[in-house]
Amino acid sequence: MAIEVLPPQLANQIAAGEVVERPASVIKELVENSIDAGATRIDIDIEKGGSKLIRIRDNGCGIEKDQLALALSRHATSKLHSLDDLDAILSFGFRGEALASISSVSRLTLTSRTKEQTEAWQAYAEGSQMAVKVTPAAHPEGTTIEAVALFFNTPARRRFLKSDKTEFTHIDEWLKRIAMAQPKVHFTLQHNGKSVRNYRAANTQLQFIQRLGQISSRSFAEHALHVDCQHNDLRLSGYLQAPSHFDVNATQLDVHYFYVNGRLVRDRLINHAVRQAFSFAESRGDAKLPCYVMMLDLDPHQVDVNVHPAKHEVRFHQARYIHDFILQALQSAIAEAHSLAFDGGNE
Ligand code: ADP
Ligand code: MG
Repeated sequence: MAIEVLPPQLANQIAAGEVVERPASVIKELVENSIDAGATRIDIDIEKGGSKLIRIRDNGCGIEKDQLALALSRHATSKLHSLDDLDAILSFGFRGEALASISSVSRLTLTSRTKEQTEAWQAYAEGSQMAVKVTPAAHPEGTTIEAVALFFNTPARRRFLKSDKTEFTHIDEWLKRIAMAQPKVHFTLQHNGKSVRNYRAANTQLQFIQRLGQISSRSFAEHALHVDCQHNDLRLSGYLQAPSHFDVNATQLDVHYFYVNGRLVRDRLINHAVRQAFSFAESRGDAKLPCYVMMLDLDPHQVDVNVHPAKHEVRFHQARYIHDFILQALQSAIAEAHSLAFDGGNE
């Protein structure tokens, strides 16, 4: 059999299989691009759970006219230049795959204007070679990306889409997680023409707690223990459900958000540390995890984020050390809350 190089669109569709699972994953990639571009406001507009339309508008740095075609091609990124950069990556993106992948499985248009440009330009890719057309457009400084009819040309994928309501829930849940990690960004979400979420920029601790209340419950936000602990290069900060307010209702919230250098991760090591910290506070029969929103910041050299294309997983170089640091930070926050409660009781 003859060996042939795949045409770009097909290669991109295959790559899309890894990062574009459903509307929520498209939104994740696009919103992360907006954050990487320094946006302070991101408006998300979806129709039919995102399967009909996904539109993300930001006020970030924009893309220059002569870079638009590159932005849509595979392995093209402004965020990584050498293998060394990969050792200390702080941006969300670096693989240069998202836009090429999404545009190979939807009708994608990219409209953008930089500060320096007096007019905006729109780009879209078409055909199996994904040739990019660029035309003049109207747009304020920033970028809008519109992905219409997701998976229209990949019916096997399209069949896996769930109901609009389920797809919406995935988007909404993911937005909560990014909204807690990026408190200074104003996010809005509109579904089928109706405004459904509005997370205003939170620049103070009080505003952060208000945002926490919006995404979880007021009672959790108001009673949560504040954690802020630093040791050498490590810093753990955030909010943990107070042992005195550990009730089933709050546990059902499923607010278990952990971020490593701003990136949401799922990590067993971390869950273990949280559970262990909590077991010291009070022994109880069920093994429910308390709610938390925690940020771990460390030297990016100490963690590998390039484990999986969707980047949910990380690998710590010193896993045990990190585990014990988290455990101790949480334990001392809990102990402090206990002693405050005790002193209060004596007055
Ligand atoms: P990656 O984020 O891994 O670099 P993407 O395919 O997501 O790859 O994006 C390709 C490039 O397009 C980015 O590196 C960036 O330069 C540019 N880009 C994408 N979205 C935006 C945006 N909203 N604002 C400014 N630049 C963007
Ligand atoms: Mg990206």
